[in-house]
Amino acid sequence: MTISPSDVVAWIGLGSNMGQATDQVERAIVALTDEPGLELTARSSLYRTAPMGHVDQPDFINAVVRASCGIGCCVLLETLQKIEKRFGRTRDGERFGPRSLDLDLLMYADQIVSSPRLELPHPRMHERLFVLEPLAEIEGDITVPGRGRLSALRQACLNQRVQRLGDGVPKGFKR
Ligand code: AMP
Repeated sequence: MTISPSDVVAWIGLGSNMGQATDQVERAIVALTDEPGLELTARSSLYRTAPMGHVDQPDFINAVVRASCGIGCCVLLETLQKIEKRFGRTRDGERFGPRSLDLDLLMYADQIVSSPRLELPHPRMHERLFVLEPLAEIEGDITVPGRGRLSALRQACLNQRVQRLGDGVPKGFKR
């Protein structure tokens, strides 16, 4: 897709903790690049992260990508759900249980949306280091609409275990 001036920037969070989670996330990034109406303009490293909610499940692999979008936020959410389905995601398990692929629409420009199907920014992103850390890797210190500066949000989550793959020292621990 050619990026046009009317395109909107969006951020998407990816996660998996079933099967070959690293492969799943890498393949999902490729699937996003293949989508018409989307142009990936940045991606983070992969991160190994501790499960939240139901802690008795495998660690997750997470990443964040930035995309330039020629499609609206509702169509983008449908696109993400279609890709999740293709990757074997079912919605009959526990809400915060293991998942083959989870795609979250984190932010769509600076829009704030509150509808039954879509909330923007994603309603839990500000309290999840597995989102904030990869987001900071690609964006530095940006503002999350309605939530404040990314640096301050990260500071509040430093007790969460998040390790950038390839790094020797786990992030998110007091050293
Ligand atoms: P989950 O099972 O945690 O992936 O939640 C998926 C549900 O959250 C779907 O019913 C979506 O319609 C809804 N949802 C609301 N806001 C968002 C968002 N920003 N990104 C992804 N899903 C969302």
